[in-house]
Amino acid sequence: MGIAGEGASDALPCAFAPRAFSGAQHPGKECSQLCRRGIYASPSHRCYDGGMAATETTSTHFDVIVLGCGPAGERAAIQAAKAGKRVAVIERSHVVGGARINWGTIPSKTLRESALFVDSLTRNKLHGIRCEIAGEITVADFMYRERVVVQRELELANDALDRYNVEVRRGHGRFTGPHAVAIDPLDGGTAAEITGDVVVIATGSSPNRPADVPFDASHVLDSDTVLQVPRLPRSLIVLGAGVVGIEYASIFAALGLKVTMVDTRDRLLPFLDREIVAVLKKLLQRRGIDIFHDDRHETIEVEPGNPPRVRCLTKRGLQLEAEALLYCVGRDGNTTDLGLATIGLVPNHYGLLAVNENFQTRHGHIYAVGDVIGYPALASTSMAQGRQAIRHAFALPGPLPSTELLPFAIYSIPEVSYIGDTEEAVRKAGVAFVAGRGSYEMNPRGQILGDTDGLLKMLFEADGGRLRGVHIVGHWASELIHIGQAWLRSQATAAQIAETLFNYPTLSDLYRHAANQAVAELRRLGR
Ligand SMILES: Cc1cc2nc3c(=O)[nH]c(=O)nc-3n(C[C@H](O)[C@H](O)[C@H](O)COP(=O)(O)OP(=O)(O)OC[C@H]3O[C@@H](n4cnc5c(N)ncnc54)[C@H](O)[C@@H]3O)c2cc1C
Repeated sequence: MGIAGEGASDALPCAFAPRAFSGAQHPGKECSQLCRRGIYASPSHRCYDGGMAATETTSTHFDVIVLGCGPAGERAAIQAAKAGKRVAVIERSHVVGGARINWGTIPSKTLRESALFVDSLTRNKLHGIRCEIAGEITVADFMYRERVVVQRELELANDALDRYNVEVRRGHGRFTGPHAVAIDPLDGGTAAEITGDVVVIATGSSPNRPADVPFDASHVLDSDTVLQVPRLPRSLIVLGAGVVGIEYASIFAALGLKVTMVDTRDRLLPFLDREIVAVLKKLLQRRGIDIFHDDRHETIEVEPGNPPRVRCLTKRGLQLEAEALLYCVGRDGNTTDLGLATIGLVPNHYGLLAVNENFQTRHGHIYAVGDVIGYPALASTSMAQGRQAIRHAFALPGPLPSTELLPFAIYSIPEVSYIGDTEEAVRKAGVAFVAGRGSYEMNPRGQILGDTDGLLKMLFEADGGRLRGVHIVGHWASELIHIGQAWLRSQATAAQIAETLFNYPTLSDLYRHAANQAVAELRRLGR
């Protein structure tokens, strides 16, 4: 299959790309057609080099200073600006959007969509159509949509910052006092210092990079560099079977790579319902992914050659070899060189900051939100935390930090998603329960999709039949979960869900099947 064609011309670097942040104008049309991520022209044809707002005032005092313009910082800034506050955001990267837009969420999900497309072409064979992946292919070849999506997302982010007059300053921000932040320019500009009544730390996280792992961004990769590999390897060792490790392992396996995964724990994703993990593991192994538990790397070496080989010796004596290695063992908060010692804030061993339920640090006017405070470290929760911190700081109306259950999705192939209690958690709490299951194999839409392994599982209290948790592995799990979320919110019972009519044929109908099973079980128990 010749996938390279379309993407090839777009892969050329933009003529404007090397330009430093300047706020200069250039013809928007050419720019948006040629540019790679971060360089685009807004509808008003104003150039945002690196997605930064072009105008800067000479103000030195603000109501709010936000450090970092990922999803957490961006939402905090816009929330404050909407409330009429004067806001400055400091961003050290050449783009706004952080991991969400540029090197995490959106790019990995876009590659996943390409992998699903390739997978459906190569696995679900149609008579007379033969597809295979061409020899020399790069990840970028699969990322054509990513450039379009990232550019559009950057456009939206910049337009929003612009619309609300948020002042975006490029540079590395560092506290020089409880209300003062220095901005170190990254490209030869002049250093500045600004002050703020409220400061929000939203500096995010970076992959953990131990010194004994020879990262080179070509063969030994982390989750920030994996999508920039010059050539798609044929085999991959993934160290770390957390959410990101499993997502990339399954995506690359779907693209035809031989994948080996090694994890220190004795089971995959221990926070998930065991039954769901068992299905996930079976499906990953069916794709040819070898999974080793209770092990870690001893040495990692890159042996020159064409192509070079990465050799990984593990503590338990495995001798693994592949064309590339992806190291995915945790992320650390971006708190080094933030001047935290100056203001008496001490991050923990992983660089994470402690906050109270309103996202305040030990200084009432300094908030921390997003990945830099750790779990759950999601784009969705980071955005909510950014908004909530500002609502608290200025006593604005709106929902405060919620105790509501959060949905969680893993964009592996197949997808996994859940909300509420796992079976283990309900057992541990000593609550009598019944489980209802809807199998994709028994669902016509599942059959049509060729997904006959998927499973939707719901847990209900035996006493009264109230829903406690929903767990899904299979197609569209990350979308389907929100039906369960609505029911959890409304404290629905098995009987109510069983009586709901769904479109036919749909995967949503799995809820009715699972609830019917639970109702039958409740009846059997005389409840
Ligand atoms: C591969 C991958 C896939 C993911 N997939 C998902 C997913 O599917 N769904 C989901 O919800 N989440 C996902 N995430 C997590 C999500 O991307 C993060 O939780 C989210 O981006 C965190 O937002 P943030 O604003 O806290 O930090 P970041 O997005 O990390 O942004 C922090 C920003 O601060 C800047 N910065 C740091 N230090 C300074 C400084 N001193 N001065 C100025 N600027 C600074 C950085 O340059 C960066 O732009 C994924 C992450 C990865 C890595």
